[in-house]
Amino acid sequence: MAKIKHIDSREILDSRGNPTIETEITLTDGIVERSSVPSGSSKGTYEAFELRDGQDRYNGMGVLRAVANVNKIIAPKLQGMDVLDQQKIDRAMIEIDGTQNKSKLGANGILSVSQSVAKAGAKTSLLPLPLYLRQFVSGSLGKKIPIPMFNLIEGGKHAANTLDFQEFLVVPASSKSYSQSLELGVSVYQSLKKVLFERSENTSVADEGGFAPNLDINQNGLAITKEAIERSGFSFSLDAFIGLDVAANSFRAGKVYKIKDRAIPYDQDDLVELYRTLLSDYSLLYIEDPFAEDDWEGWKKIYSAIGDKTLIVGDDLVTTNPYRLQLALDNKVVGGVIIKPNQIGTITEAIAVSEIARYTGLKIIVSHRSGETMDTFIADFAVGIGADYVKFGAPARERVSKYNRLSEIETDFQNL
Ligand code: PEP
Ligand code: MG
Repeated sequence: MAKIKHIDSREILDSRGNPTIETEITLTDGIVERSSVPSGSSKGTYEAFELRDGQDRYNGMGVLRAVANVNKIIAPKLQGMDVLDQQKIDRAMIEIDGTQNKSKLGANGILSVSQSVAKAGAKTSLLPLPLYLRQFVSGSLGKKIPIPMFNLIEGGKHAANTLDFQEFLVVPASSKSYSQSLELGVSVYQSLKKVLFERSENTSVADEGGFAPNLDINQNGLAITKEAIERSGFSFSLDAFIGLDVAANSFRAGKVYKIKDRAIPYDQDDLVELYRTLLSDYSLLYIEDPFAEDDWEGWKKIYSAIGDKTLIVGDDLVTTNPYRLQLALDNKVVGGVIIKPNQIGTITEAIAVSEIARYTGLKIIVSHRSGETMDTFIADFAVGIGADYVKFGAPARERVSKYNRLSEIETDFQNL
C-alpha cells in the first residue's frame, strides 16, 4: 500500500503568463507525480474560490498564499494517508478548508493536490489514468473517446476584438473516430486562416489559440466558420457542425443583452428569436450559456423554444456545482453540462456532478479553461468519466497538449 510521503507545491506560469499552482506528490513506494491547475477569465459567480495574493507582485495574481496553504496546512494532514483513498483525501481537504467555496485554503491549491493524488494513485495501481478513474464512475464505458469541439474563433472576454460571442466551435460528426475528428479540426482551422487572410481580416490568435478577427457582427463569425468548413474539403452539416459558447454573462446589461448585431439591445424574447434564426441558418448543434447565469426566465424560454433541436449547455449557469445542477434540472433548462474540475475544486466532487448529469440523461462536456498549463490531466479525466465531448480550444499552441494526449489514449485503447 503506497502512502503519501511528501507534498510540495510551487508557483508556475499559465498560458497567459499569470501565476498558477503546480503540486508534486511523492509516495512511499518512490512514485512521484505532478499536476497543475488552470484559470478562467469568464468565470461564473458560483465557482469555487481561486486564492490569489493581491498586492504588487504579478499584478496581484501571485499564488504564494495558496502554495503555502498546501505546503504548511494540507501536506502535514495528508502525509501517511493511502494514496488510493481519493475520496477520503478530497473529503479531508474539504473539511480542513471548512467553507462552502474553498475560500479559506483556495480551490486552486486543493485541486492541484486532488489531481496529483489521482495521477499517483493510477501509477501505483499500474493502471492508465482513465481506467483508474473509472472506479468512481458507474456503468461500463468501453473505449469511447469524447468528441472534440474546436474553438476556432474567439470573442468576448477571451479576445481584444469586436465579437461579443465567446467561442465559435467546430464539432465533428459523432460517426468519426477521434483521429479523424482531430484531422478535421486542423483542416478547418487552417482553412479558416486562409479565408480570413483573403478577406484581409486579422489572423492573430486569442487566449485559446482560436482566431480573433474584428468582424462587424457576430453572425459573420458563423458565416466565416461555415465557409471554412466548406473549403476544407469536409461537408458542412454532414462531417462538421457549428456550436457556440455565447457566454451571455459578459454582454448582459441589466435586463437586456447588448451585442453588435443590432443597435437596439435584445430582451429575452428577441434573443430567443436570434438563436432560433441562427439555428435555422447554421443548424447549430450546440449552444452554451445562451443567457446569463441568473436569468432563469431567459433559460426557460430558450430551452422550451429549441431545447429539442439543439444541445443547450450550462457552464457559468452550473459551475460544476451540485446545487446549481439541481436548480438547472428543476427548471428543465439544459440538455448538457460543462464539467471543469477547477470550478468545484476536487476530483471527487467534479465526478459526483458528472455522475448526476449522466443519471439524469444530460450530455457531459469536459472543458479546459482559457488560462491553461501543459498538464494533460483533464484529457484522461474526460475519458475516465465517459464524457460525450471535450472542449480544449483550437488545435494549436499549448492547447495541442490535451488533444495529443487523447491521441495517445486512443492508440493505447486500440492495443488493449
Ligand atoms: C468557457 O467559458 O467555456 C471557458 C473555457 O472560459 P473561461 O475558462 O475563461 O471561463
Ligand atoms: Mg463557457
